[in-house]
Amino acid sequence: MNLEAFVLGCGGMMPLPYRHLTSVLLRREGELFLFDAGEATQISIRRLNLRWKKITAIFISHMHADHVTGLPGILMLNSQVDRQEPLYIFGPPRIAEYIEQTRRSLDMYINYEIIVKEFTEPGILWEDKEFSIRSFGLRHTKPCYGYTLEEHMRPGAFFPEKALALGVPRGPLWSLLQGGGNVTLPSGLLVHPEDVLGAPRMGRKFSYATDSLYFPEISREVAGSDLLVCEGMFEDALLASAVEKRHMTARQAATIARDAGGVKLLGLIHYSPRYADKELKQLLQEAQEVFPNTILTRDRMNFPIENVD
Ligand SMILES: [Zn+2]
Ligand SMILES: [Zn+2]
Repeated sequence: MNLEAFVLGCGGMMPLPYRHLTSVLLRREGELFLFDAGEATQISIRRLNLRWKKITAIFISHMHADHVTGLPGILMLNSQVDRQEPLYIFGPPRIAEYIEQTRRSLDMYINYEIIVKEFTEPGILWEDKEFSIRSFGLRHTKPCYGYTLEEHMRPGAFFPEKALALGVPRGPLWSLLQGGGNVTLPSGLLVHPEDVLGAPRMGRKFSYATDSLYFPEISREVAGSDLLVCEGMFEDALLASAVEKRHMTARQAATIARDAGGVKLLGLIHYSPRYADKELKQLLQEAQEVFPNTILTRDRMNFPIENVD
């Protein structure tokens, strides 16, 4: 199963000539899930040559311009392809009003169904037989949510030699056991999946958290993430300003990653436009003092998230 994250933009507040606004696209088995869509997000998608019509759902963190002004362009572009399935958009209150008003005032041509789901309480938003997508609360100047995509546990590895030793012939009975079913052999012997499978394996987890005051409970939500993409907007010296604006420093993002436990990689995002690219190394350095496995995300970086077994 392919799981890969693409950073479409890594900047906060305003797009810069060399840095688009914070947005991440997750591709799982060809399905695309978009997290935030600031002005010009579509440019990065086009440059990555990803197919539009495959966007299944869009998740908006909060109703600030740098996270939603790219939506109309993405909605219009989806009309240029033959799209049968609806597009789902999840977000805090007023996202429906924003989309509806923009559609009407711009006479946007949309030839497919858009289903907008506003929510006010964190929880599971998307449930698939293999994974779920969940929101969790953040603390910003407006209602704001982080998101995780988490795969369910997978059955353990199959040991053919154990199946053969028990007398289970190669074929459909093997698939049945691999899928978690019991098998009764002609001899009357009942074979359970655990007789031929290893221990269940963890699924993968991706987390996205941006535009928030630091608070320790974020760690609980992102625990065990293979990839955590988290706002690291300011350097230590601007901590007071970060708190006042309800944003995070890079060190605070690293603190979340460290305290969560099980986070494999932290990608910083939503940099203040005050920093030129080469100045970001200060943020990286401060974060790495707390959580060494931190990197600076850049526009159009991609992160394959592999199964460990
Ligand atoms: Zn922002
Ligand atoms: Zn904001």
